[in-house]
Amino acid sequence: MNAAGSEHCAAAALRRFFRNRYVRSSIMPLLVMKFGGTSVATVDKIRNVAAHVKRETDAGNRCAVVVSAMAGQTNQLVQWVKEAGSVDDEREYDAVVSSGEQVTAGLLATVLRSIGVKARSWQGWQVPIRTDIVHGSARIAGIGSDELLEGLEGGEVGVIAGFQGISPEGRITTLGRGGSDTSAVAVAAAIKADQCDIYTDVDGIYTTDPRMVPRARRLDKISYEEMLEMASLGAKVLQTRSVQMAMVHGVRLQVRSSFDPPEAVPAFQLGDGTVAGTLVCDEDEKVEQRVVSGIAYAKDEAKVTLVNVADKPGVAAGVFGRLADANINVDMIVQNVSDDGRFTDLTFTVLDSDLDKVLAVLKDAKAEIGYKELNGSTDIAKVSVIGVGMRSHAGVAAQTFAALAEKGINIEAISTSEIKISVLIDAAYAELAVRTLHTLFGLDAN
Ligand code: ADP
Ligand code: ASP
Ligand code: MG
Repeated sequence: MNAAGSEHCAAAALRRFFRNRYVRSSIMPLLVMKFGGTSVATVDKIRNVAAHVKRETDAGNRCAVVVSAMAGQTNQLVQWVKEAGSVDDEREYDAVVSSGEQVTAGLLATVLRSIGVKARSWQGWQVPIRTDIVHGSARIAGIGSDELLEGLEGGEVGVIAGFQGISPEGRITTLGRGGSDTSAVAVAAAIKADQCDIYTDVDGIYTTDPRMVPRARRLDKISYEEMLEMASLGAKVLQTRSVQMAMVHGVRLQVRSSFDPPEAVPAFQLGDGTVAGTLVCDEDEKVEQRVVSGIAYAKDEAKVTLVNVADKPGVAAGVFGRLADANINVDMIVQNVSDDGRFTDLTFTVLDSDLDKVLAVLKDAKAEIGYKELNGSTDIAKVSVIGVGMRSHAGVAAQTFAALAEKGINIEAISTSEIKISVLIDAAYAELAVRTLHTLFGLDAN
C-alpha cells in the first residue's frame, strides 16, 4: 500500500471530525505559521520569528503559530530517556520528549508580548489536540479549536507547542519525529486557515535535498501526491502525515525560509497568490509538467536476509505474519527464484530502528520458519525517483537502471508505484546515485 493509501482511514475519521465545526465570524485572514527547530534554536532566533509574526499581525492577519523544540533539543531529550533506563512505559518517553516544545512556545509568546503583540502559549493538551493512544507516533483524532479561535478572533496570537497531543487517557502523546509539521496542518484544517506556512532552514522544496546536491532546483509548486511520495521516501522537509492531511483537507500549504529578513517579505494577503517558497497544491494547479519532479533518499532502513528458506507456500506468510504481530512495518521484499525448487533466499527491508527487534523475532521462530542463516545490515540506502508524469511516460525505470549500472551501482531490490521507482543500494553509493539520477532526469539547476 502506498503512503496515501495507508493513511486513508485515519484521514476519513479526521474529515468527519472537522466537518461542520467552528463557523468563523471574522473576515480577517487566518494564518498558521510553523517554525522548525533551527528557526527557534536560540532566543535571538525566536526574536526573528517574532518579527515574522508581527509583520503578519500588523497587516491584519490572525495568526496561530506552531513551534518545534530548539534544534537538537528533542535528540537530547530522547538520549536522556535512553540513559534513564529501558523504556517500559512509553507514556513517560512522551512526557519527556514533548517538553522541548513547551519551552519554545512560552519563549515565543514572551518575546511577542515584549514587542507589543498580544499572545499566549498553548500546550497540546490545552488546545486540546486529541490523539490516539500510540505513544511516540500518535495520530491526531481531532482538535477542539473553539477557545483557540476565540483568542485569535480577539487579536491574540496563539503560540502552540507542536509535536504534542493528549491521549484518550489524558496523557501527553507525541506525533513522531518531525511531527510539528503535522500539528500545524491539523490546526490549519481545524480553524479553516487561509494558508499554512511552514518556515524552515531552506527556502522551499527542492528537486532533491539541497544539502546533498547543491545543484538542486527549488520548485515553485509541487503536487500533494508527489510531495507525499517525496516525504515518505525520505525528504524530511515535511512530515509525511502533514502532507497527507493537507491533501485531504485541501490546506493551502507553503514551505518557505525563516531566514528571509522579516521586513523584506510581504505579509500574506488573501487571494494575491504570491508564493514565497514552494506551494504544495493539487496536480492541476501545477504549471511545470515534468516526467520526474524529484529524487529522494533514505538511509534509515535496514536489510534482512533469510538464507535457504523452503520454497513452498506459507513460508512468507509465516515470516511476515510474525513481524506484523510485533508491529513491525516491512518495506521492500525480494524473494529470489530458487535453482532447485526447494530452497530460496528471502530479503526485505525494515526501519533500522526496528532491526534488533526483527532479528530477535526471527531467531525465536527459527525452528518453525526453517532457515539456514539470518543476516541483517544497515549499510543500505533507498533512492527514489518521483513524478506524476511517470503515469503517462514509459521508460523511466529502464533509464534509471541503465544510469546506475553505468556508474557500477548494484541494485539489491526494487519497488515501484504509479508515480515512483525506488531502488535499494549500498549506502556508500547513495550520494552518487542521487546526483546521477538528478542529472539524468534534467533536474539540475543551470
Ligand atoms: P525543521 O527543523 O524546520 O522542521 P527539517 O530539518 O525537518 O527542518 O527539514 C528541513 C531540511 O529538509 C532541510 O534542511 C533539507 O536538508 C531537508 N530536505 C530533504 N529533502 C529536501 C527537499 N527535497 N527540499 C528541501 N529540503 C529538503
Ligand atoms: N521536535 C520534534 C522533533 O525533533 C518535532 C519537530 O521538530 O517537528 O522531531
Ligand atoms: Mg521538520
